[in-house]
Amino acid sequence: MVGFGLYPESVGLERKDGYWLWTGGPVPPGYAGITLGPLVSIRKRAASNQRLLRHELIHVEQFRRHGVFGFLARYMSTYLRWRLRGYGHLGAYRRIPLEVEADWRSRADQTFQRTDR
Ligand SMILES: [Zn+2]
Repeated sequence: MVGFGLYPESVGLERKDGYWLWTGGPVPPGYAGITLGPLVSIRKRAASNQRLLRHELIHVEQFRRHGVFGFLARYMSTYLRWRLRGYGHLGAYRRIPLEVEADWRSRADQTFQRTDR
């Protein structure tokens, strides 16, 4: 947990190297963060979660790789494919290849995940 009064500088929209970080920005229920293009929005309580940030930054890279439309088309089509195969929301979400990559690479150490493509 991050105390609001202790870290006032961590709340709001900040320009970072290659992305924008919006701490306390809009995030869907049940999630700690969301990425759309170069904008990463995370909950205030998740502001110190470095693995979450690494995960969302992989999505920033994926948006760059596929474009916004290409990312969303891949994301939604693979999600729907797993739902149609009978998986629930979480089961389908965890099997989206873009999520698998972000999850796997955000666990790896930073020197590895900084490798350029
Ligand atoms: Zn994700």
